[in-house]
Amino acid sequence: MILDINLYINGEWLDSYDHKTMPIINPATEEVIGRVAVCHRKNLDDALVAAQSGFDTWRVVSSFDRSQLMKKAALLLRERVDHISSIMSIEQGKPFIQAKAEILSATNIIDWFASEAVRAYGQVIPPRNISTQQLTICEPVGPVAAFTPWNFPINQIIRKLCAAISAGCSIIIKGPEETPASPAELIKVFHDAGIPPGVVNLVFGVPSEISNHLIKSPVIKKVSFTGSVSVGKEIASLAGKYMKRVTMELGGHAPVIICEDAEINVVVEQMIVAKFRNSGQVCIAPTRFLVHEKIYDLFKLKLVDAIKELKVGPSDNEGNNIGPLIHKKALTRVHSLVEDALVNGASLVLGGNRLNKRGFFYEPTVLEDLPHQAKILHEEPFGPIILLIRFKSLDDAILEANSLPYGLAAYAYSYDSRNIMKISNNVKCGMLAINHVGLALPELPFGGIGESGYGTEGGSEALACYLDKKLVSLQAC
Ligand code: NAD
Repeated sequence: MILDINLYINGEWLDSYDHKTMPIINPATEEVIGRVAVCHRKNLDDALVAAQSGFDTWRVVSSFDRSQLMKKAALLLRERVDHISSIMSIEQGKPFIQAKAEILSATNIIDWFASEAVRAYGQVIPPRNISTQQLTICEPVGPVAAFTPWNFPINQIIRKLCAAISAGCSIIIKGPEETPASPAELIKVFHDAGIPPGVVNLVFGVPSEISNHLIKSPVIKKVSFTGSVSVGKEIASLAGKYMKRVTMELGGHAPVIICEDAEINVVVEQMIVAKFRNSGQVCIAPTRFLVHEKIYDLFKLKLVDAIKELKVGPSDNEGNNIGPLIHKKALTRVHSLVEDALVNGASLVLGGNRLNKRGFFYEPTVLEDLPHQAKILHEEPFGPIILLIRFKSLDDAILEANSLPYGLAAYAYSYDSRNIMKISNNVKCGMLAINHVGLALPELPFGGIGESGYGTEGGSEALACYLDKKLVSLQAC
């Protein structure tokens, strides 16, 4: 398969003005499987003009009609799920079944936002003076610039795209250059569903050049970014300089508190899936496993047995559960974090190396006895790494869970209501799952606190992030 991905601007697929491209690499084979256009500044200017005219068109389409178009797009995406899953699986490396699950969940997200589009209600506020009427009206904020990463090539886009267009905004998406083909297929779905030219635009290129150019433009009224904390800070400060509204969905370092009374088999079964999905390249992946000392050894034994059952390898083999990391840089980064921990005195329970074959594969790895100075305790590994940490009292576990500046997802297992109350009242995070996993449903708020960002990408609050509230106060003459 050779992929040849262009820019989608004003309803057309276009080459870059200077015909520049960059390679698309299959992370399981390290082979070049296609090329993606690198947009020129003039392409970005075209995209800005398109987004402004798309906004002028779209904001006056009724929310009912916007919703109908989105439902059509969801149907088309469902029809094409197998084709797009194959493409995603090859360019991103995740097993086909995980790609398919991602795309089916995207169809649910589209449907949910389509239903929410018609509920962008304002308020009527009782006046002090009865000859006055006071109301608030929700209006789309304007053209949006969105920056999305490669770990969920479609779902990272769909949350921003749906929130924007259901609110009546247009959008320029800077998609992931590592995995551009499945996003292009997603945009084709909206094109075929009849989205007017300029409402949705997709560009690729040099990320910092694109964000600098778009955020500075007076056309752009809202910025949404998903990615690392360090890049998020740069983009947030640029957006602040130009007073743009911002949603930031950044990294985390999720703790899992496993209490003495936890059902170990259930924890292992659920955490194996949550940890190794997408090779651990998931912002809400559990990483710091805080285990009560009384069950630590048994838990470790069962965890290791379960991990040994997992198969690492290319996504085209149906038996494999763990694919490669996205690129060489990710592989080097993950391995250097593991090496740093070991040099500093951590113990290796399992894994700890790249696979001895082509492709950016890393073994599922478990570390324990981590010294405080190990970088991996503080930096998000974004790979298939579990850190085992023993605790004596729940207070200690909560202290450890809250010890980092991030606060995205957290997990806990206990059937004791006192533990559950204490955990839900004291763990600092944006999303907490107790005795199960399942945080990413479209109707639920999705976002973090602290250095994990602000704003939400799910639930009715996600739509509010793309709406301005206007107060209208009327007095009868
Ligand atoms: P990164 O932040 O460098 O890149 C993430 C995405 O942001 C990429 O698709 C990239 O194209 C884009 N990007 C980078 N610099 C940009 C800029 N100046 N302007 C606009 N877009 C820009 O991260 P990475 O090296 O690809 O991944 C490693 C780290 O990123 C991980 O440790 C993890 O913390 C984080 N990450 C988080 C998520 C998430 O879902 N929250 C997703 C991907 C990566």
